[in-house]
Amino acid sequence: MLRWLSRKFSRKEATMATAKCSHVAEHLKKVKPQTKGCEECMKLGQKWLHLRMCLECGHVGCCDSSPGRHARAHFNETGHPLIQSAERGEDWKWCYIDGIYI
Ligand SMILES: [Zn+2]
Ligand SMILES: [Zn+2]
Ligand SMILES: [Zn+2]
Repeated sequence: MLRWLSRKFSRKEATMATAKCSHVAEHLKKVKPQTKGCEECMKLGQKWLHLRMCLECGHVGCCDSSPGRHARAHFNETGHPLIQSAERGEDWKWCYIDGIYI
């Protein structure tokens, strides 16, 4: 959505400081989800709300609304900053370092 807006109003882009993610080239890999659910939650027998997949290694973790927040924990542990929603019908990607959709 943000990207679409910034493209549409490209004349404003020069004056607006549009954030861009510089991690895509290095960290975005062709990965497949390693697990069907949050890896850590499944081990702990915990419940999660939404799933996020790491775009660097395919780790599947739960979102920030879940008690475990394992997707973010995975980023803190490994430094893999890019995730994609693993929810059906969602394909947005997010960079933890920049805090923006990519
Ligand atoms: Zn980034
Ligand atoms: Zn989890
Ligand atoms: Zn990862």
